[in-house]
Amino acid sequence: DPDPTLRPDPLPEDNDRALRPRMLDDFIGQAEARANLKIFIQSAQQRGEAMDHTLFYGPPGLGKTTLAQIMARELGVNFRMTSGPVLAKAGDLAAILTNLEARDVLFIDEIHRLNPVVEEILYPALEDFELDLVIGEGPAARTVRIELQPFTLVGATTRMGLLTTPLRDRFGIPTRLQFYTEDELYEIVIRNAFKLGAPADPDGAREIARRARGTPRIAGRLLRRVVDFAVVEGDGTITRALADNALTRLGVDRIGLDGADRRYLTLIAEHYSGGPVGIETLSAALSESRDALEEVIEPFLLQQGLIQRTPRGRMLAQRAWDHLGLPMPKPKRQ
Ligand code: ADP
Repeated sequence: DPDPTLRPDPLPEDNDRALRPRMLDDFIGQAEARANLKIFIQSAQQRGEAMDHTLFYGPPGLGKTTLAQIMARELGVNFRMTSGPVLAKAGDLAAILTNLEARDVLFIDEIHRLNPVVEEILYPALEDFELDLVIGEGPAARTVRIELQPFTLVGATTRMGLLTTPLRDRFGIPTRLQFYTEDELYEIVIRNAFKLGAPADPDGAREIARRARGTPRIAGRLLRRVVDFAVVEGDGTITRALADNALTRLGVDRIGLDGADRRYLTLIAEHYSGGPVGIETLSAALSESRDALEEVIEPFLLQQGLIQRTPRGRMLAQRAWDHLGLPMPKPKRQ
C-alpha cells in the first residue's frame, strides 16, 4: 500500500508474523477479555452489524495488535492499521475512513497520541459514521458531510490516563490487558518453539517463561535468542541449563529483570535510600524519558511488588531490597 499512513502489518520483529496467533482459540491467556470478545464478535455477526468500538489498554507487548487482527479475521472483514502519531492532518484520517468497507476493522495504535484536530473529526465518525470536512479556506470555506460505511475502531494505548474523556467515552468495549502468568507464558513458549522447529524441554521452556517479564513479546524474543545459543553451542534442544546460561549472558536475571530494570531499582536504593523519589528526578538521573519509565519499566515492577507509587514518589518495597541483596535502611522518622 503506497499510503504511508497505513502500515499493512506492524514492524516485523524477527519475522514476528510466524508466531502470532491467528484466531481467538489459538490466543493464550487474557481469559476474561477473550471470553467477552467472543460474545461481542458473535453477536455482531448474528446481527450483521459492525462490532462496537473497542479499546485495548495495557503495557507494550501484551497482545493488543494481535487481538485487533484476530477480531478482523473472526469477523471476516478487512484489517486496516495506522497509529496516532502518523495521522498528522484531518485529511490523513479522512482518506482512510472513506476507503473502509462495511464492518471493517480500523486499528489505531498509540491512540493517546492523536492530534486534537484529527481526534475532533473522529468523534462524529465513531458516533454516526459521518465525516464533516472543511473544504477550502477563508470566506470560500464550506463544510461537506460525508457518509461512511459502519466500521469498528480498535484503539490501543499504553497510557489510558492520557486519553481525553470524550474519546474514551466513545469506546463501547474498553478492555484492559494483564501481564501473563508463568503458566500462560510456558504454553506460549512451548508452542512457539514448536513453530520455530526448535524442541524445548519442559524445564527449558519454563525457564524462559519465568524470565519473560509477564510479556509474550519478550518471551518470543528471548526464545529466539536461546534458540541461537542452542544451535551454536548445544545440540539444538532447549534445556534448562542452556536457557539459564543464555538468559544470564543476555543480562536477564532470575525474575526476568533486565539491565534497565536493575538500574532503576539500584538508583533508588543507592542514591535515594529507597525513596520516595519523584518520577522527574528518576527520569533525569537515568536519562530515560518519563514516558518510557511509566509505560515500559514501572508497570512490571509494580505488578511484581518491587516498587510502590506513593503521592510523594516511588519507593522500593522489601522484595526489591531482597532481590538486590541489599539491607533495607532503617525507616526515617516521618
Ligand atoms: P502490543 O500490540 O500489545 O504491543 P502485540 O500484539 O504486538 O502486542 O504482541 C507482541 C508479540 O507477542 C507478538 O509477536 C505476538 O504474536 C505475541 N503475542 C501476544 N499475545 C500473545 C498470546 N496471547 N499468545 C501468543 N503470542 C502472543
